[in-house]
Amino acid sequence: MSNRRFTALKEALSHRPETSKEFPSKVSEYFGINVFNDRAMREYLPDDVYRSITENIEKSEKIDKKIADQVASAMRAWSISKGATHYTHWFLPLNGATAEKHDAFFSPSTDNRSVEQFNGNNLVQQEPDASSLPSGGLRNTFEARGYSAWDPSSPAFIMDKTLCIPTIFVAYTGEALDFKTPLLKTLSLIDKEATEVCQLFDRSITRVIATLGWEQEYFLVDEALYSARPDLTMTGRTLLGHAPAKGQQLEDHYFGAIAPRAMEFMKEFEYEAWKLGIPVKTRHNEVAPNQFELAPVYEEANIAIDHNQLVMVVMEKVARKHKFRILFHEKPFAGVNGSGKHNNWSLATNTGKNLLSPGHTPKTNLLFLTFFVNFIKAVHTHADLLRAVIASAGNDHRLGANEAPPAIISVFIGSQLTKVLDEIEKKVKDRKMTPEEKTELKLNIGKIPQIILDNTDRNRTSPMAFTGNKFEFRAVGSAANCGPAMIALNAIVANQLKEFRGELEKAMEKGEEKDEAIFKLLRTYIKQSKSILFEGNGYSDEWVKEAQKRGLSNLKNTPEALEAYVSEKTKKLFIENNIFSEKELEARWEIRHENYAKVIQIESRVLGDLAGNHIIPTAIRYQKLLVDNVKGLKEILSEEQFKQQAELQIYIIGKISEHISAIRKDVKDMIEKRKEANAIEEAHGRSVFYCNQVKPFFDDIRYHVDKVEILVDDEMWTLPKYREMLFIK
Ligand code: ADP
Ligand code: MG
Repeated sequence: MSNRRFTALKEALSHRPETSKEFPSKVSEYFGINVFNDRAMREYLPDDVYRSITENIEKSEKIDKKIADQVASAMRAWSISKGATHYTHWFLPLNGATAEKHDAFFSPSTDNRSVEQFNGNNLVQQEPDASSLPSGGLRNTFEARGYSAWDPSSPAFIMDKTLCIPTIFVAYTGEALDFKTPLLKTLSLIDKEATEVCQLFDRSITRVIATLGWEQEYFLVDEALYSARPDLTMTGRTLLGHAPAKGQQLEDHYFGAIAPRAMEFMKEFEYEAWKLGIPVKTRHNEVAPNQFELAPVYEEANIAIDHNQLVMVVMEKVARKHKFRILFHEKPFAGVNGSGKHNNWSLATNTGKNLLSPGHTPKTNLLFLTFFVNFIKAVHTHADLLRAVIASAGNDHRLGANEAPPAIISVFIGSQLTKVLDEIEKKVKDRKMTPEEKTELKLNIGKIPQIILDNTDRNRTSPMAFTGNKFEFRAVGSAANCGPAMIALNAIVANQLKEFRGELEKAMEKGEEKDEAIFKLLRTYIKQSKSILFEGNGYSDEWVKEAQKRGLSNLKNTPEALEAYVSEKTKKLFIENNIFSEKELEARWEIRHENYAKVIQIESRVLGDLAGNHIIPTAIRYQKLLVDNVKGLKEILSEEQFKQQAELQIYIIGKISEHISAIRKDVKDMIEKRKEANAIEEAHGRSVFYCNQVKPFFDDIRYHVDKVEILVDDEMWTLPKYREMLFIK
């Protein structure tokens, strides 16, 4: 058993869970103990400081230097009491990961004594430089410095004895280099615009926050098997591998009993997550073998995103402790489902109302309908932007691949709400409506909550589904930061609400009565955006044709989809609302193109290497064995006997030769194309070339490699097989 695959298999089988570890069962006793949350602030801050800082946070106001100093000193005392030795600004750069640069609290002082130091300046701003993080050309000048600045709306926390302070990350020139800066801007924007609209209905609503509940899908693979697969370690997905005899067709994994080893892993990371105040709640097996899902209780969007990024880090660490590797890639294995990250989005008011949840009176339901219809209109107007923000090399494997939402953006609202919209379209009149007509309309609207309670229809094929009290953006990739999706949703909805209010004011100035003017506007929007509503099967070919007839885009790959990032429409949206400057948008567009090209480049290299130093050598070794066998038979058998008995060997020898020549030729041609691609200077052109000229080789190479895999003696195969990676638990 010198074969490295067998060594890995043996090791994987030895990775059994130890006797189940017990974690304290009363979560409320330790939930958030590692977070500088409200409770910690109350304990560590003087009353007046506590009051002003919470008010500052609540109103998103600038924090005074004196207050910052006091908060810093409280944070220091609190974190040192918990054993922390270091602090760091923690931010979300555009590479999609989290970034940190630790400094010790400890600081030597002049009189040979040392002190623990951390003041308001350290808290509020740092200059981590971090010049190697992607900037899309924003930092190419001599003034390339990058600054991080405290985000008081997301609480600091302790991880690995380090106080982590959530921050934004911007260039010296003020341009955003992260996901959080524009997100915070869109959160204020949606607060402002949604509040203004709410005020038309209910004066007590003075604040609106966007809420996000993400659902994180992932795979677990044994560490030893993972390490024996260079494609997994280098790219996060398998580039080759013959489908196992059994995949997910028996549907025996989904919601099944969780395997003990996976369970031990889950218990531990949940414990760690709870200590960090991350309200994780749901866990279950997903559709594919070794695929799982985790979902928390929803939170304010900024905190929810920080928590998602943080939990991914925690899961990764805990997975290693359990001799697993966690795969967040959208498509780690061909032939079984990939992973997504559903983003459940809604709006909550200071009065405790969910604006996407119907109320109990016609009045509150008109408020609901206003937000509901404006949302649909916003998605209709900016569908291409929504497609662009979820585009990545990994997600391209999912979207449109009959397991995930299609690449066509549409909205599912269910048959009952479709009827309600139809009714508004029919019953609202261009002329002034009679009192009877209005009463009837309002009466019908009053019935909405009952309708929704009675009819919880679901459509798993829709990229954007209304699920009773929120919209679920289901097309987001599992590896993605939710930031871009949330930035886009907040911005398009806020902008739409602003337009709505403008039009409403105009109508009312002309003397129209408010409710009637609202109905008329909603009817106009329904008419304009109906084409985005789709209730049928999003996986069907008919939908592709129908969508084309309706003029909806079907952008199949990342380079195509990214165009919407820099379209005139998108620029107008973001620039007018002060979310991005043109330069910032173009930088983001460029970073995504660059990232796409790099991912395909790396995959192409790994595939070429694997073909060259794993597949072909193994195939040749096995072929030699057969050739020797054939030669031997020839020596001892009559011609007649030989023909009969050597037929299979000769056939396989031929087949192997065919496949390895095909692999060799493909790899050679692919390398040539890669050279051409790399000569393209400009990021957009390069990613398009990688997509259309380099990537197409992948499938063909894989086809031949996977054929070789089932021809060659299992004992000789060096790479762990699908049946091993997916089924050894
Ligand atoms: P289901 O499982 O039926 O889809 P759940 O109520 O379990 O629905 O919600 C799934 C996800 O949606 C969870 O992460 C949950 O926190 C989130 N969610 C529920 N309500 C909201 C809301 N108002 N805003 C944002 N997310 C929400
Ligand atoms: Mg879901």
